[in-house]
Amino acid sequence: MTDYTPLSEIENINAQLRKTFKTGLTRPIAWRRHQLLQLARLAKENADEIAECLRLDLGRPKQEAIMAEVGPIIDRCVIAAEKLEEWTRPEPVDVSAPWQKGWNTKIERHPKGVALIIAPWNYPLILAMQPLYGAIAAGCCAVVKPSEVSPHVSAFIARTLPKYLDSRAFKVVLGGVPEITKVLELKWDHIFYTGNGRVARIISAAAAKHLTPLTLELGGKSPVIVDSSADISLTAKRILWGKINNSGQICVSPDYILAEKAVVPSLVAAFKEHYKAFFPDGALASDSYSRIVSDQHFERLKSILGRTHGKVALGGKWEEGGKRGIEPTVITDIKEDDAVLEDELFGPILPIYSVENVDEAIAYLNERDHPLVLYMFSTDEANKSRVVARTTSGAVSFNDVFQHIAINELPFGGVGESGYGRQILKFSFDNFVYERGVLDIPYEEEKFFGARYPPYTQESLGF
Ligand code: NAD
Repeated sequence: MTDYTPLSEIENINAQLRKTFKTGLTRPIAWRRHQLLQLARLAKENADEIAECLRLDLGRPKQEAIMAEVGPIIDRCVIAAEKLEEWTRPEPVDVSAPWQKGWNTKIERHPKGVALIIAPWNYPLILAMQPLYGAIAAGCCAVVKPSEVSPHVSAFIARTLPKYLDSRAFKVVLGGVPEITKVLELKWDHIFYTGNGRVARIISAAAAKHLTPLTLELGGKSPVIVDSSADISLTAKRILWGKINNSGQICVSPDYILAEKAVVPSLVAAFKEHYKAFFPDGALASDSYSRIVSDQHFERLKSILGRTHGKVALGGKWEEGGKRGIEPTVITDIKEDDAVLEDELFGPILPIYSVENVDEAIAYLNERDHPLVLYMFSTDEANKSRVVARTTSGAVSFNDVFQHIAINELPFGGVGESGYGRQILKFSFDNFVYERGVLDIPYEEEKFFGARYPPYTQESLGF
């Protein structure tokens, strides 16, 4: 395993990147395009090794590794390379005041400078690489700090990135709290953090000392409303797929269900049927099912299962002996203060909380933190419109899970406790640039300026 970055090195890394940025190395479009294509090559040429690292860190099936991390990185880096000219092209401004018509006025998008990217363990490659392609496209230098909780992927990033990218501009810092604490003492021109809200507050406080702008991609409980107009079998199939993916360790995992009371029995029956079809010999015997990332998270989830007063309708077992598997577990008959409704579950536990109707679901949501995504399964257009109009969330997705993050043209990010700032392609790029107003007034335009110079007179005042 690769060693952590020595604390004495960290200041040096920051200084080297500052020096590089000042030379202008990262500014030419051709250079940025080459780096983006190199990042795509990194993912493509090392797909098997990446999948193996994800298996070692998370027990992730290869298909999920390729579909959710390797594939999107390749596609999006290539698209970013193709779109670079468009994203960076100066934007002429159509001024409204008649006397300004002869001025040359435009908006240019310039790199902020040296960026810091802090990534979590659950999608440890794409959540480091997605901000990184944004920073490259913007013309920034960057440090990537992957998570110590996914050590195989982090070590892969540290040993492979320098082989593909220009190491004068892009560096990796490995480590845990002491290393990141040292990193955060230094000045960065943008920090892009993905992770939990507790650490986000530490990052925000450190950034405030340098007035560093931030993107915070956080999590929380993403709910699913199911009303009585939904196709219950397909609803259960899609939600279950969402919950078993990476064993529920996804920021947009369907955290809990708010179901109209009348549909709960058929929903539970449909979960059982689809579970049997996905895992004929049980999830814990399947190679298509991920494990829990660490002992700490395994113990946390077991403790939630131990504390719930709900009824286990499906699953409920786990495997000891270091394997850290927990069965997809559907829990019904829960009260509002149940342990499963406290914090983001981030695991394969799926509580169903019964409500009388959609209005009660809306009222329930409005008493809580704004989620990263709000899911709803319904064919009732009036109910759908009411949910959109009366709730707040980073995204709303009807009748399926996750697909809103598969769309290259939709912004992805949170609101309130689920964070701020947006990502995916152009939205990733936007984090790392600032809009610079550029104005050039020809000398011939002097004819309009007569009134601004002293001595001022009643006539020059004009009204
Ligand atoms: P984590 O433990 O890997 O932490 C994330 C990063 O923060 C790591 O690089 C870690 O080194 C760093 N860190 C940890 N302690 C720190 C400290 N004291 N000071 C500074 N940095 C510190 O990951 P996590 O936080 O467990 O990630 C899971 C959370 O992230 C969940 O809440 C999930 O919903 C959220 N998430 C959000 C998104 C999104 O795009 N919105 C994506 C994935 C995960």
